Order: sequence, then structure tokens, then C-alpha cells
Amino acid sequence: VPTVAVVGRPNVGKSTLVNRILGRRAAVVQDEPGVTRDRIAYDAEWSGKQFSLVDTGGWEPDADGMAKAIAFQAELAMRTADVIVFVVDSRVGPTDADEAAVRILRSTHKPVILVANKADSERQEAEVHDLWSLGLGEPFPISALHGRNSGDLLDKIIWAFPEEPTGKLKERGPRRIALVGRPNVGKSSLLNRIAGEDRAVVDNVAGTTVDPVDSVVEIDGEDWILVDTAGLRKRVKFASGTEYYAALRTEAAVEAAEVALVLLDASEPISEQDQRVLTQVVESGRALVLAFNKWDLVDEDRRYYLEKEIDRELGQVSWAPRVNVSALTGRAVEKIARSLRVALEGWGQRITTGELNQWISTLQAATPHPTRSGKAPKVIYATQAAAEPPRFILFTNAPFEKQYLKFIQRKLREDFGFPGTPIELVVKPRE
Ligand code: GDP
Repeated sequence: VPTVAVVGRPNVGKSTLVNRILGRRAAVVQDEPGVTRDRIAYDAEWSGKQFSLVDTGGWEPDADGMAKAIAFQAELAMRTADVIVFVVDSRVGPTDADEAAVRILRSTHKPVILVANKADSERQEAEVHDLWSLGLGEPFPISALHGRNSGDLLDKIIWAFPEEPTGKLKERGPRRIALVGRPNVGKSSLLNRIAGEDRAVVDNVAGTTVDPVDSVVEIDGEDWILVDTAGLRKRVKFASGTEYYAALRTEAAVEAAEVALVLLDASEPISEQDQRVLTQVVESGRALVLAFNKWDLVDEDRRYYLEKEIDRELGQVSWAPRVNVSALTGRAVEKIARSLRVALEGWGQRITTGELNQWISTLQAATPHPTRSGKAPKVIYATQAAAEPPRFILFTNAPFEKQYLKFIQRKLREDFGFPGTPIELVVKPRE
């Protein structure tokens, strides 16, 4: 959903405007002790359109002064918002601090709506023309307190939203899988099992370009594109000493795919070469499913040791769905599809800014970052900047310790899932 940030000096009426936009729900928010103070992003709706409303009023000037506080607000809005609402006090007119904010806002390519607040009457409305001098276009007069023009402002905000991507998700066609793993884990065998008589006739798959090296296969009644399978199909075996080329090949396949199906040999110990493939996949930021092949060779004993090995060796990908298959017998091969779907869903998952900030305030209230040198490090504002894979930006008042970031990441997975995908957390400390 689009994000709208409200920026402006203290006392221009930002919070009043935010409450006006949220309606009754703002009152509910303020009833939760200990949570409200840091919560600045809310889920809002107007004319059936949902958006996140960010109240940057959280950064009132501290010892460093007004110019700095407002510059920080403006910068944050520019980085994270789709629409910026810049509020000034129409009774005071433009001030130096307003002009400082405008200098920053002017360089953004995002729509900025200049709001002249405290225009409580028609006469005052007519007097907002002073604000043209800010160079942000026509000032929009409102009275946040009395609700004057606030509906019109909301219309204006909504019209400024970026175009929605038109149903791309539905039309995206078959998803792209890279089938990877060290030599002899059974990649070719699995491909043959899935593809049967080479179904790599590619032209008639709607809306997709399929490279000649790719194969279109059906798993569990659904079409998938297995990328870069030419080598596997022809059963080309490379000469010895070619691990370097194998790694390049894996990289190319994974880059071309959305999800990597990493094949492991369940009948053998997890090797360093397996680990290298996994690291490659994790670093690529693609979704990941683990398939333990040759399950027909696994007996009770081996099963027991394999579980131990997995706990010990696969910590870096403990979030990946797992399937136990046999390319030889065809065991559970259909189940791969379900795991792929789960992983792709986690990969594309999004949390709204409102929900995320609410969650993180609660988390920090319960388990704060350890304080070492006076100031308690805190997330002031968080946003999910991207999906596929999920990427989060945390704006903080001080640098964060790795341990605490790991804690946040673990809790994110516990509370929101994100199966089958790496997650990235980026910390941006103030200053
Ligand atoms: P690739 O190098 O990863 O493509 O591996 P291959 O598909 O060439 O398989 C390597 C060896 O493992 C071959 O001898 C296969 O017959 C054997 N193999 C593959 N999958 C299975 C399986 O599920 N069970 C058993 N028992 N053997 C398998």
C-alpha cells in the first residue's frame, strides 16, 4: 500500500491532521500505554483506498535544534513515502524552518502537497497566498481542527498515489525454478522424473519468454519453468576440476530463477560443497526449497543421523521448506510443488507499515535493546522497503548490535512467517 508522510514544524497541527484523517481509530491507539509514544505509522483508508499514514511529528526538535529535526523528517519522508504532506501554519506564514524543509523536499521526485493549516474561516482561507513563496505550488487551505476541507485534501492525496501495477501477479505465468545441487545428487534424474518425455516445447506458454535452455514442466497439475536445464537434459558431465564452472552455472541458473530447488543426497553426509551451493542461493536473495533426494536409500538409522546433521549443518537455512523425495521411485515428487508455492509466498510477503511499526513498538517495549552508554538504542520507524526477498529498513536513534538485529529477525519469522526466503534488515541510525 502507498505511504503518506506528514511533515512540518512543531505546532503547525500535524497530529491534529493525522487524527482527523484516522477518525476515531486514533483515540484507540492512544489508549495503549507504553506503545503509543513511538508509534508513528498507522493504517488509514479513504474512498476505499488503503494507505499507511506516517506522523513524523515524533521528531520534535531536541538539543540539536529545529532545523535539524525538520531536515530529518523531510529526509525520512523522501526516502519512504509515496506522497508527502507538508504542513505549515497559515496564520504564521513561511518561516526559516519551513524554508529549510522545502529545500530538501524540492529535490524529491515524489508529489508534495503544501497544506496551509489553521485556515478556520473563508476569510483566512483567502489569505494563504503568502505561502506561494515557498515554491511548492498552490497552498491547500484546511482546518485540521474543524475538519474544513479535510475531505478534499484526502481526495488530493489519493489522486497523487502512484499507479497500481495492473494485476501483474495474476498474469505473471509459470514461476521459474532453478534445480541446483552438487554433482550426483540426482538433478538429471529428478528432471527426467518430472519432465518425463522432455516437455520442453516452450512457445505456447502464455505471456512468458522461455529460453531454449529452459524446460517447462508440470508438477502437481501446474506449469513451472525449470531454468537452464540444457546441461541436465543432455546429461553433460563436466571433466574433473570444474567446480568453478559448476558454481558459475549454479549462479546463472539461480539468477534466472525466482526460487531455487536445492537437491541434497539424503544417503550421504551434508558436504562442504552442499554448503557452498546453499550459501550461493542465500546470497542471491532467491526463495529456497530443500529437497532430500534418494530417500529410498534412507533407513531408520540414517534418518536419525540425518536429523542431527540437519540441525547441526543447516542453521543458515532453517527457514527453508523441506521435502524428502526419490527421483528413482517417484516418491513425494508431487509434493515439491507445495513447498515451492510456500517459499514463493514467503518471498513475496509484505507487512504494512502500520502493522510493522505497531509490532516493533510492542517488541521493543517487552524486550528493549540493551543500553550500554546511556542512550537506549531504539527503532523510531520501520518500513518494508521491498519484497522478493523481503527487505526492511529500520530508522534508529543509535547504532544497533548484531545480536539484537538477529533477535528482531527471529521474531519477525516467528510472528509473520516468511518461510522459504532470506530476510534483509538494514539499519539507518539517525545522523
Ligand atoms: P546429477 O549429477 O545431480 O544430475 O545426478 P544424476 O541424476 O546423474 O544422478 C547421480 C546418480 O544417482 C545416478 O547413478 C542416479 O541413478 C542416482 N540417483 C538419482 N536419484 C536417485 C534416487 O532417488 N535414488 C537412488 N537410489 N539413486 C538415485
